[in-house]
Amino acid sequence: MKEKKNIAILGSTGSIGTQALDVVRANPTMFSVEVLTGNGNVDLLIKQAIEFNPNAVVVADETKYQYVKEALNPHDIKVFAGKKAIAEVVEMDSIDLVLTAIVGYAGLESTLAAINAGKQIALANKETLVVAGELVTKLAKEKGVNLYPVDSEHSAIFQCLAGEFHNPIEKIYLTASGGPFRGKDREFLSTVKKEQALKHPNWDMGAKITIDSASLMNKGLEVIEAKWLFGLKAEQIDVIVHPQSIVHSIVQFTDGSMKAQMGLPDMKLPIQYAMAYPERIKSDFPRFNFINYPQLTFEPVDTKTFRNLALAFEAMNKGGNAPCVLNAANEVAVEAFLKDKIGFLQMSDIVEQCLQTIDFIAKPSYDDYVATDKETRRKALQLLN
Ligand code: NAD
Ligand code: MG
Repeated sequence: MKEKKNIAILGSTGSIGTQALDVVRANPTMFSVEVLTGNGNVDLLIKQAIEFNPNAVVVADETKYQYVKEALNPHDIKVFAGKKAIAEVVEMDSIDLVLTAIVGYAGLESTLAAINAGKQIALANKETLVVAGELVTKLAKEKGVNLYPVDSEHSAIFQCLAGEFHNPIEKIYLTASGGPFRGKDREFLSTVKKEQALKHPNWDMGAKITIDSASLMNKGLEVIEAKWLFGLKAEQIDVIVHPQSIVHSIVQFTDGSMKAQMGLPDMKLPIQYAMAYPERIKSDFPRFNFINYPQLTFEPVDTKTFRNLALAFEAMNKGGNAPCVLNAANEVAVEAFLKDKIGFLQMSDIVEQCLQTIDFIAKPSYDDYVATDKETRRKALQLLN
């Protein structure tokens, strides 16, 4: 019998993390959980630890350490706390694969630590590649580490590339659902509240990515993610709106042939593909039925209304620390929007102003990214007031 894959799930209490545990629960002979980490929702983290019996649990929020420690006292599970502990625990010898499902810039340090330790990566935390794609992919290459995409669009591209690794890609089309505000104008967008933005038509996800999907920043981040994952130039990446979210993305090769990957929108599929690669695991997920979808439609993306996507292309083309600025400004803006401090359209204003004012660094080091993130957050917070 094949050995089980030992997995560390960073951000196990989130949308991706809990679905990854569903995959483990359904495939107990294939996977075992070695590490779980969470931040705020410690009761869920404790419950997960008791069910999956990992070697170690890390709670990012240090004030919750005692609580978790006491709850897990009767069990043979190590408990640690703090950001540094997440970056340390991923180095454990017993881990085969690290699923990075922390949201935002907060996931960068532990992802780099896992790569440095030679762990294979199932990458959900797209912000890591947006902020420091050059550094992350270079380190992964040096360490012989594969980055298996979890994001559904990138998983689609990855699946289309199976058996094609030596064939040149002409371009890729990333599909976008268009989010809850597809077809709306700026006047409408100026009035929308978080409750409307949090209602995604096709996907049930964490709050930050749901807002990013409504503002199309998510697609912008995914364009940059694709550039680094597949080594593409800006001209090779196109975005097309596909409201049904059935075609998850498309690769076009140099002979003009196109391959698409399709399926019902369910993140468990790309999560389990990344976890089980190169195997495909049998699943009982609901199957797509053509008769329920007599039409699959496609339309151009409106970057005049949804400026975030244009700003992301701009940051990608500029390179250096510009995508790091874009990401940090966006994280501050999304948080402020979720707290009703700013309107929907102001999110792009903050990102744009940060891109214009933060000092450009053409070849950033890790410390430059850390400093850029900090400086951009300071500037963005200033802009809120
Ligand atoms: P989420 O908010 O539901 O979960 C985030 C997880 O990270 C939680 O476990 C939380 O406790 C932990 N966390 C939050 N802040 C932290 C911090 N500062 N330090 C340590 N841990 C922290 O988010 P999600 O929707 O699961 O998304 C996770 C990542 O996956 C994001 O980068 C997102 O872009 C990407 N992603 C998500 C989906 C999806 O369907 N949810 C799809 C594609 C990509
Ligand atoms: Mg996606």
